[in-house]
Amino acid sequence: MSSIRKCHTDILVIGGGAAGMAAAAGAAAEGAGVLLVDERPQLGGILPQCIHKGFGRGFYGQDLTGPDYCEKEVQRFSASGASYLLYARAEELRSDRTALIAAPEGLYECSFRQCVLATGCREKNLYSLEISGTRPEGIFTAGEAQEMLNLGHYDIGKRIVILGSGDIGQIIARRLVITGRTVAAMAEIKDQLGGMKRNHKECIEDYHIPVIFRSTVTKVHGYPRLTGVTLLHLDTGMEEVISCDTLITAMGLVPDTSIADSLKEDGEFPGWLHLCGNADHVHEIVDSITMEGLRLGSLLGQFYGRKNAAR
Ligand SMILES: Cc1cc2nc3c(=O)[nH]c(=O)nc-3n(C[C@H](O)[C@H](O)[C@H](O)COP(=O)(O)OP(=O)(O)OC[C@H]3O[C@@H](n4cnc5c(N)ncnc54)[C@H](O)[C@@H]3O)c2cc1C
Repeated sequence: MSSIRKCHTDILVIGGGAAGMAAAAGAAAEGAGVLLVDERPQLGGILPQCIHKGFGRGFYGQDLTGPDYCEKEVQRFSASGASYLLYARAEELRSDRTALIAAPEGLYECSFRQCVLATGCREKNLYSLEISGTRPEGIFTAGEAQEMLNLGHYDIGKRIVILGSGDIGQIIARRLVITGRTVAAMAEIKDQLGGMKRNHKECIEDYHIPVIFRSTVTKVHGYPRLTGVTLLHLDTGMEEVISCDTLITAMGLVPDTSIADSLKEDGEFPGWLHLCGNADHVHEIVDSITMEGLRLGSLLGQFYGRKNAAR
């Protein structure tokens, strides 16, 4: 006898960040049966670790922190009546419209009519570049560093080099200075900062972050802990070693659709699969994710919800 639990839902939502919560709430509000699954222990995706302000200016007309924005989204989601499972990872998505979900109590095989993929994005890491040297401790992506600092309160290091100057790099740079650490350098391959203008002032200028344009890291030094990096100045070809105990990479985000990629035919996902939030494309701000999620969920709910009983 199989120990896999079977379940069925109108709409399966994979991912419980801003996108997944909005899509699930939109669909449930139209009367559809919705099950949302997230592998993390709490709803919100990356929002709880983003303790800075800058969320909700568009959608709520308020300047909220990530956790405050998250709380509002969780409230709407909870009121919608959508079901959810936490610590529950979708392991497989199949063409017969079933998903295999690993939860603490065991495996579920969930059949569904439509699926919303709201799995967010992943960060490019150092080893996607041509970097030589040792493989020391003390190298993190910006998201990892943010989670360790803001949620785990770990001591991630004292003297830090940041590679990349997009929004996430700028926000983590400010956080490092606020928590008493030294940002030795922020290396940026282009000749200008990435990210949103507001962060240039609020993170880089106000916190005097030393940005070195037209430069990149080519080598890491030290073992078992990082002791420095070699910085290459692209215009002159000159190299310099900057001492540091931590390197944070902020080199960009890539939508994470890996669980569904094998379902593509001629480069297209099946019609029953809907991408939402950063899994669709990387969004600068969360407000547009919430709006798109609600709209998508509402449309799906209208077609597949019990209010209209359309199938
Ligand atoms: C450092 C940083 C700063 C930011 N600052 C701002 C800002 O100031 N203002 C602003 O408006 N926006 C900001 N943003 C952007 C905004 O917060 C995000 O774009 C948004 O929260 C992403 O939502 P999402 O639901 O698409 O993805 P995520 O929040 O990443 O959620 C994806 C969820 O999917 C889950 N998941 C993935 N795969 C599976 C699987 N197989 N099974 C189950 N669950 C799975 C993950 O656990 C996660 O919970 C910032 C983002 C970052 C990273």
